[in-house]
Amino acid sequence: MSSVEPNSEANWARYARQLSLPQWDEAAQARLGRARVLLVGAGGLGSPVALYLAGAGVGQLLISDGDRVGLSNLHRQILFTQADLNQPKTQAARRQLARLNPGCRVLPQPAVSPDTLPALLAPEGRPLDLIIDCCDNLVTRQAVNAACVAAAVPLLSGAVAGWQGLLALFEPGRWDTQGCYHCLFPAQDEAGSCTNAGILGPMAGLIASQLALEALRFLAGLPSPNSGQVLRHEALSGRWQRFALSRDPGCRVCAASLKEQ
Ligand SMILES: [Zn+2]
Repeated sequence: MSSVEPNSEANWARYARQLSLPQWDEAAQARLGRARVLLVGAGGLGSPVALYLAGAGVGQLLISDGDRVGLSNLHRQILFTQADLNQPKTQAARRQLARLNPGCRVLPQPAVSPDTLPALLAPEGRPLDLIIDCCDNLVTRQAVNAACVAAAVPLLSGAVAGWQGLLALFEPGRWDTQGCYHCLFPAQDEAGSCTNAGILGPMAGLIASQLALEALRFLAGLPSPNSGQVLRHEALSGRWQRFALSRDPGCRVCAASLKEQ
């Protein structure tokens, strides 16, 4: 695999269209190049997010997924093709992302579990800059949130099922007022995964694009209009809604970390 120097002339050409934005300067591009991001799940949300982040120049992208590519994945998991069937998703993702941008270092990771989470959140002993939860089950979401709270790592959480999707960013410095994912969903009553609810490919792409945009803004240090809010979309009515995040005083997950602050 060839490599591309972060500041090479070829890379300035690669990122020229985003560097043309008045809000996106060389410092923002450099911050992105230094960023280390963990993507939990390389499915309908994780696939477009990975493509956009790698294309934009994120320096290091860790991808956690224990599944293999299946035929029913291909209509929405646009990282993969027919040729990747039955291949481990993380390996297929690394091959595809290397073709897109060899300057992005893609590191396949095992699936999330209580055993793997601590190392996943702080590879080489250094905490990551951002976790993007694109998984498809509630147990993993709660486990990832609890680990992010314990390690004081920002969590960008996205979910999509049927015609509904939502996303929210949980930042360590704002837990006292905005809470954590468990404050938002204390019980496991969130909409189910697309395995049982069904989904059209572009619906996943729509929420994934919002996730990628939010991640790029956060990593580059740009302000977000969604800060402190849950962004929710219902595609049958076409309605976008925002709700303010607020801490649940009874949340046991972030309570312990707040005491430590
Ligand atoms: Zn909480």
